[in-house]
Amino acid sequence: MQCLVGAMTCEPLSLVNEGVRGLTPYQPGKPIEELERELGLSHIIKLASNESPLGPSPKARAMALVGLDELSRYPDGSGTDLRAALADIHAVAGECLTLGNGSNDVLELIARLFVSSEHEVVFAEHAFAVYPLVTRAMGARAVEVPARDRGHDLAAMADAISERTRLVFIANPNNPTGTWNDAEALEDFLSAVPEDVIVVVDQAYAEYVDEPNYPDCITWLARYPNLIVTRTFSKAHGLAGLRIGYGVSSAGIADLLNRVRQPFNVNSLALAAAHASLEDDEHLQRSTGINRSGLVQLRAGFDAMGIEYIPSVANFLCFAVPGDAGDVYTALLHEGIIVRPVASYGLPRHLRVTVGLEDENTRFLEALKKIIPGT
Ligand SMILES: *Cc1c(COP(=O)(O)O)cnc(C)c1O
Repeated sequence: MQCLVGAMTCEPLSLVNEGVRGLTPYQPGKPIEELERELGLSHIIKLASNESPLGPSPKARAMALVGLDELSRYPDGSGTDLRAALADIHAVAGECLTLGNGSNDVLELIARLFVSSEHEVVFAEHAFAVYPLVTRAMGARAVEVPARDRGHDLAAMADAISERTRLVFIANPNNPTGTWNDAEALEDFLSAVPEDVIVVVDQAYAEYVDEPNYPDCITWLARYPNLIVTRTFSKAHGLAGLRIGYGVSSAGIADLLNRVRQPFNVNSLALAAAHASLEDDEHLQRSTGINRSGLVQLRAGFDAMGIEYIPSVANFLCFAVPGDAGDVYTALLHEGIIVRPVASYGLPRHLRVTVGLEDENTRFLEALKKIIPGT
């Protein structure tokens, strides 16, 4: 059988927009099973994908199991019950919500709705990899604004907006840096941006943030009709494998997003589990509490070893590696610990570690001590 692997010059492939041809695929964290196979290790810990070390609420798990009895049925395409619960929690109308197959789905829908090849999309250096991905997939021009102290320079991002700009992505907090922007800086930014530029504030890690000036941007929607806020069940709710997230926006934008999404983009188990998770605040508190103490533990460990890290308010830390980050990554793999290289984010000297359970953090710190000489 002939398969033209790599034959980008053949006629049909050359029809694809240049942005797509230039895309680098998203690089996920290494799966545990893969490392098990490669190195024959057991007791592997994965601190590579900002997943919850606590796992989902037992109530969410139970509801997903109940859903198994109805797998032959299509899910509720409008996610009625979950939407009602979210509308209640965020004090918005249900019409303002767009459910997605992960919040990544919503980010892509937004790009599809607003952007085409003649447009520009603005985001920050070191920002979440999905922003350039969805931008280039639409054939639009990605405008990457240099970071300030490794975080978003909102003033520079406002300056980078041109007549062609349709969309700005702000990750607050950002992945992989864990940096954040406060309410005042974000409001200044939103006030400076023309109304015909859509601003997405991606709050995937909002639940973890423990800062008095950290804004819940959903409460600003009435004032900024061009604002879209995205949230997810993948992180603090521990449901990454089910793929569910959502956008909150004006009812007008949500209506259009809901027209372009697939009719059944969110599966029935995800809908049921997410709904149950919203009703288990105790579990969410436990999840964020473990993260809070884990951050303290990891920071103390890094400090003791003299390892530099980027201050983070999320569930991960980027730390600077003396010498080659790739070597340290590989050495950690041999210790059965998976972290995340971030060279593709413009951070070739750093690695990102997700906050784990106390004993996982301890194992990680001990392995690092063994690997990095003089620590
Ligand atoms: C993890 C993450 C998301 C969430 O992705 P899902 O598709 O909801 O799993 C969104 N934005 C950022 C910045 C993230 O790190």
